[in-house]
Amino acid sequence: MTDKMTEDEFEGAFAKAQELSQFFREIGPKYDEENTFAFPSIAAFKKSGLGALSVPKEYGGLGGDLLDTSRVVSELSRGDSAITLSYNMHYIMVGITMSLMSETQKKHWLGRVVDGDIMFGPFSEQRAGFSGLADMKAVPQPEGGWKLYGKKVWGTLCEASDIVTTNATITDAEGNLPEDFEERVNAESFFIGDFKVDENGQGDGVRIEKTWNALGMHATGTQTIVFDGYYVPEDGFICEWRSGAFGVLEWASLMFASIYLGMQARILEESRAVLSKKTLGAVFGAVVASDVKVSGVGHIIDGIGDMASRYELSRRVLYRTCTEVSEGYDDNWPIELRFPYIGLAKTFIAENVMHMSKHAMSMVGGSSFKKGAIFERLYRDSAASMFQPLNADQSRTYIGENLLAPEELDD
Ligand SMILES: Cc1cc2nc3c(=O)[nH]c(=O)nc-3n(C[C@H](O)[C@H](O)[C@H](O)COP(=O)(O)OP(=O)(O)OC[C@H]3O[C@@H](n4cnc5c(N)ncnc54)[C@H](O)[C@@H]3O)c2cc1C
Repeated sequence: MTDKMTEDEFEGAFAKAQELSQFFREIGPKYDEENTFAFPSIAAFKKSGLGALSVPKEYGGLGGDLLDTSRVVSELSRGDSAITLSYNMHYIMVGITMSLMSETQKKHWLGRVVDGDIMFGPFSEQRAGFSGLADMKAVPQPEGGWKLYGKKVWGTLCEASDIVTTNATITDAEGNLPEDFEERVNAESFFIGDFKVDENGQGDGVRIEKTWNALGMHATGTQTIVFDGYYVPEDGFICEWRSGAFGVLEWASLMFASIYLGMQARILEESRAVLSKKTLGAVFGAVVASDVKVSGVGHIIDGIGDMASRYELSRRVLYRTCTEVSEGYDDNWPIELRFPYIGLAKTFIAENVMHMSKHAMSMVGGSSFKKGAIFERLYRDSAASMFQPLNADQSRTYIGENLLAPEELDD
């Protein structure tokens, strides 16, 4: 990015993020309970202008870099992680598309983002999540362009979006997927198009099926998107998916890390608020006394110190990784290790946030387990951190394979 945000400009954007975060905090519990997308967040997000945060200034955006965006996302997530995870998809898709689109495409689509349009990115299918080659077909049309047929089961932010980005495999004219694996990889393509659906989620060749029902992250509204003859004109083709987009999206895991860093901050904040005040009265247990303030109990003092240390370490790992990626330090790593090494910030934070949400409940005690308590929600929501790419198991596989057989992988 050539013309980056100044510190003053960032402060202005961050102040808006603080205001929006407060609004997300207020409305979050209702949408968690109702298990629906947080619809009032749409107007508030658009009004904040933060949708254009990471769009370069030359296209009318605010020119925020990776670290600026990460800090804003963490702040929003401190208010409500589920609502923010939705808008995080917008940031991820703006980031991925803007590094791959042609100049004409950038002017058009980034211009729309600057005007307030929201983007989402349903890629994962039922069979094998994000790493599965797209079963969704892009069937070439005689007049040019493609019609998409298939189903994406993870459509976060669909109920707020005006623009869809997705991947599908280009078939022959009869709609047959390439049989050869390499050919199939090369035919998998990245598309962008309008996403217009009515109040029942029905559009022209595309529809939302309301299937979202999960342990946590309720307000993301991660519905199923069915493409059934959705037309993409030729100028909606961005590039090949695996060789094109996959080469530039390693940083996206840092945006997921930002969500869970914000959640760590919230867990610490809520735990301090309860544990600094809670009094047990007369007890007969590990401590035997006529009146016990939990803030004086050894394992609580140690526990809060541990939480604060985990938050602080996570913050440093994430922000330092953002800076190193922006400055190109990752060029020093073998190509196979860039994805998992950058992803370590996310897997580290995921492990810490899950540890903290569990530990908060054990320290606060049984009241944290009851419906409506912020802690039970943070516990459920934090579990989502296991799944967004790269997951910890796959990261270790990538790293281990490379370190055990470097020559083969270099080939
Ligand atoms: C709240 C939430 C919102 C989401 N929103 C979106 C969204 O907007 N868009 C989107 O596209 N996706 C979204 N996802 C999907 C997510 O990114 C994953 O793709 C999804 O969880 C399925 O992938 P998985 O690897 O977890 O499961 P699977 O792919 O089913 O994996 C099953 C097992 O196989 C392993 N495995 C999978 N592939 C490989 C491989 N190639 N090599 C070795 N091991 C492998 C996994 O590690 C796991 O152990 C969302 C997920 C959550 C939880």
